[in-house]
Amino acid sequence: MENSNRREFIKTVGMGAAAIGAGIASNAVPAMAKDEKTFKWKMVTTWPPHFPMLGESADKIAEWVNEMSGGRLQITVYAGGELVPALGAFDAVSQGTVEMGHSASYYWSGKCPAAQFFAAVPFGFNAQSINAWIYSGGGMELWEKLYAPFNMKPFLAGNTGVQMGGWFNKEINSMADFNGLKMRIPGLGGKILAKAGGNSILMAGGEIYTNLERGVIDAAEWVGPFHDLKLGFHKAAKYYYYPGWHELGTAFELMVNLKAWNSLPDDLKAILNAATYKSNIWMLSEFEAKNNAALRELIDVHKVQLKEFPEPVIKELKKLSKEVLDEQAATDPAFKEVYESFLAFQKNIYGWNKMSEEPYQKLKYI
Ligand code: CA
Repeated sequence: MENSNRREFIKTVGMGAAAIGAGIASNAVPAMAKDEKTFKWKMVTTWPPHFPMLGESADKIAEWVNEMSGGRLQITVYAGGELVPALGAFDAVSQGTVEMGHSASYYWSGKCPAAQFFAAVPFGFNAQSINAWIYSGGGMELWEKLYAPFNMKPFLAGNTGVQMGGWFNKEINSMADFNGLKMRIPGLGGKILAKAGGNSILMAGGEIYTNLERGVIDAAEWVGPFHDLKLGFHKAAKYYYYPGWHELGTAFELMVNLKAWNSLPDDLKAILNAATYKSNIWMLSEFEAKNNAALRELIDVHKVQLKEFPEPVIKELKKLSKEVLDEQAATDPAFKEVYESFLAFQKNIYGWNKMSEEPYQKLKYI
């Protein structure tokens, strides 16, 4: 509470006490004074300022929390590099330099390999299934356990939906076409490309276009139609492949420093939690609505050639993905624990999807 407000408040309570008795006032003051405390928090992110959907969802969490809390929890959002480097968000929240961070957990594969399951792993979950696993299938408990030693509490905060397989200047007709292929594909997807004989080349989003156009790389994955169209990749590559087998529904996270979290009263905790649910559904809805509009533009206006990875290629990539995940599980007990939960849930949800989503997709549309 501001000092002037507090003086006004104490004066009012004092008048009440004089009129109706000191007992009521002494009960009311501490309770209300505690509830009125204002928290000013910082949220670092991995995104450029107000980056469509990703940075925007961080902005919106701050806006919604401010609205719902009547200004009692105020969050200032920082783009990547403003306060700490884009990939410094994990350490900044873990060490309590800031209270919160908005990112994707697969960026922390070097510090905490199992974290990747809570963003995306190749041939992993789509948005619907990762939500089901994390919210209702035991995933959240594992994620909290994984982040607790880092003094953090994780929340789901968004999802891209199914990503695209990427932009290629060479056709992929068989696994042999990956031989020597230079592709921008980070993380586990890159490891799998390397197993297939290709070269995974790391670069930031802003460098992809020029490298693709100049032939420094033969292919690049980014996100999906909406973001890819904005960066103009259709002018630098011939074929647009699907599906994004390596990122079938990448989830985003809000990391909260545990000490900061524990300092919040229960209602602010509930508000923050609710804002992350809202953000999760908001981002996926934006992606689904805007990707389909952008895809139409890519096809109708820019005459982009869409290609599906051949089935034998997908089958082989899946085999390589399993090998990569198994290898990591063999060396890291935390990874193994999360992997087992992931595999069990995937098996079950697949059994249900065969009766629900697969027939639904075959019904097509009216
Ligand atoms: Ca991607």
